[in-house]
Amino acid sequence: MASVFSRIVKGELPAAKVYEDGLTLAFLDINPASRGHTLVICKEEYPDFLTMPPELVAAVARTSQVVARAIKAALQPDGFNIIQNNGAAAGQVVFHYHVHIIPRWEGDHAVRGWRPGTAVHDELHATAALISAQLGKEQA
Ligand code: AMP
Repeated sequence: MASVFSRIVKGELPAAKVYEDGLTLAFLDINPASRGHTLVICKEEYPDFLTMPPELVAAVARTSQVVARAIKAALQPDGFNIIQNNGAAAGQVVFHYHVHIIPRWEGDHAVRGWRPGTAVHDELHATAALISAQLGKEQA
């Protein structure tokens, strides 16, 4: 079944669109964390970051930068978050790759960040070794 975002691409559902090109579309989030909260999607439906062809990740990144510049100029936030959720455990609700641009104003508490932990030196290096060994296998 087509995702809710694919239905927006096809014009079956309305959206407050701000930008469109051949590969990407940007529109306002229907439940915004702040004024101007925008979603940038790949028009072609892929569930998440890992399944996206790299050239389409690049297209969404390009559009995200174009739109973020426009948000900065139009709404003059103090900053903005770029967030991209993958998997239900990470808060993903719509399984159609998308990037959130969330404008931020000082003291707005619009986005809760992570709780910083404390690194244990040996664990940190053991984890780095696991990931780099995997990358070594993939590149062999
Ligand atoms: P995520 O949790 O990263 O999957 O985010 C999905 C986002 O899509 C949420 O912030 C929703 O508010 C937003 N959303 C869902 N349906 C629509 C819609 N029809 N139009 C605009 N935004 C939507």
